[in-house]
Amino acid sequence: MGPVNLPPAAQFVAGDWRAGTGAVETVLEPATGRPLGDVAGAGAADVDAALAGARTAADTGPWARATPRERSEALYRLHGVLTGWTERLVEIVVAETGCPVGLTRGQQVGLPLRHLEHWAEAARRPQLSGRPPVLTPRSDGTTMLGSWAVRREPYGVVAAITPYNFPLLENIMKIGPALAAGNSVVLKPSPLTPYSALVLAAAAQDAGLPAGVLSVITGGADTGAALTTDPRVDLVSFTGSDAVGAAILAAAAPRTTKVLLELGGKSALIVRADADVELAARIGVQNITTHAGQGCALATRHLVHHRVRTAYLDRVRALLDATVVGDPWDAATGMGPLIRAAAVERVAGHVDRAVAAGATVVSGGERPVEAVGGFYYRPTILSDVDNSWPVAQQEIFGPVGVVIGFGDDDEAVAIANDSPYGLAGHVVSADAGGAFALACRLRTGTVDINGGPGYTNPGVPFGGYKRSGLGRENGSEGLDEYTQLKTIKYHGG
Ligand code: NAD
Repeated sequence: MGPVNLPPAAQFVAGDWRAGTGAVETVLEPATGRPLGDVAGAGAADVDAALAGARTAADTGPWARATPRERSEALYRLHGVLTGWTERLVEIVVAETGCPVGLTRGQQVGLPLRHLEHWAEAARRPQLSGRPPVLTPRSDGTTMLGSWAVRREPYGVVAAITPYNFPLLENIMKIGPALAAGNSVVLKPSPLTPYSALVLAAAAQDAGLPAGVLSVITGGADTGAALTTDPRVDLVSFTGSDAVGAAILAAAAPRTTKVLLELGGKSALIVRADADVELAARIGVQNITTHAGQGCALATRHLVHHRVRTAYLDRVRALLDATVVGDPWDAATGMGPLIRAAAVERVAGHVDRAVAAGATVVSGGERPVEAVGGFYYRPTILSDVDNSWPVAQQEIFGPVGVVIGFGDDDEAVAIANDSPYGLAGHVVSADAGGAFALACRLRTGTVDINGGPGYTNPGVPFGGYKRSGLGRENGSEGLDEYTQLKTIKYHGG
């Protein structure tokens, strides 16, 4: 496709489009390596105006004072506008992420629209709850009747900073609950995928969201850092790498700004001896190939019981060897490109170093000959790997899995938990009770048994243990993160 046809001014600030005064970034199409367009990022004046607009909307504007029902109706209007643009959203997301069209239609566009609908409904949640009244004796012999009202209030201004891999989903997973709770939001997407955030701004304008309630500014680390250090920001909600997450936590510390972090992972897939090997292999392959491995919760360490290890490797090899890598618009494509040439280099470097250390390439381990242009690497599985090696400890964020054998559940749990990360885990077993017991022992925020339902449910909490994050997205717990509690004590004489 050609350049994405969106407003040329890439900053949506306090209800108006404006040209960015920062550095110009050429956005590339990962499938071909060709430019999609030039985006002028936010300069200091744009960041300042976005925060001033968000502050006004939060302090004196109509959003924070709107009733839950009014906010719900506005979010339903936003959902309606975006739903009408579904096919355009698919084009935009395929163009800027390179994610295959089928996966894009389902997980990158359909799923976030369902998330937004969920938050439109959740916005109706009452803000006020009460505690039972209490009769307290006074020293003069009379009695006082008193009680407590507890009010969930928005934080005020939320700075939302997002990564490139599932941009529409990640953007909506932030603006949905933040707006539903009554905050105003300044969203800064990844400079690699700005368009699926700008389209949200265009939809907010069409849906008539009040000025300043949602601003979208583009740019890289400097723009993000300007948001995380500004005293006008009450909450920083970040999804991205653990290194940047740690930097944001440090940057927010001097003002004790609340920080919500959804970070990287190195999740384990545990294949027990009683597992259906065909099912396990399909789950294993899906965790390597889905969006070329650019998913935070994908399982990249495959811990396989010694009894089924050879059968597992044989089946995974066959499935990966047959995977078509190439054009994301082609329905036959099983896996598309990585985001940039540097990502391919990073993935190749990890594989080459692991092989030099003694790992065996079971499938992949090279750039595909058939895909010309674009940023491609074949889906790869390595065996003869030790869990202590960098390839098993570091997040690669590409289509690479390693297979490690184990002898019993205790050993599987020990290996799975021997990781700085704790985002997700997967268990494949014919024994549901045994798999559940094993799931309870994993130090991770989620565990899928036999593949789970296969999508991120907006009604269910999601987030990480250890270096994978702080706080939770989704569910009522995720909505709570965007609120603070006020207790009002009163007595009736
Ligand atoms: P990244 O950390 O490089 O960038 C994420 C965002 O942070 C971008 O918008 C970037 O411009 C901004 N940024 C960079 N430096 C900054 C700074 N110093 N201050 C403020 N903002 C800054 O991540 P990425 O490469 O875009 O995405 C991949 C990473 O995201 C992986 O680690 C992946 O696991 C993680 N991720 C996590 C989840 C989750 O829910 N846990 C979901 C998706 C992706």
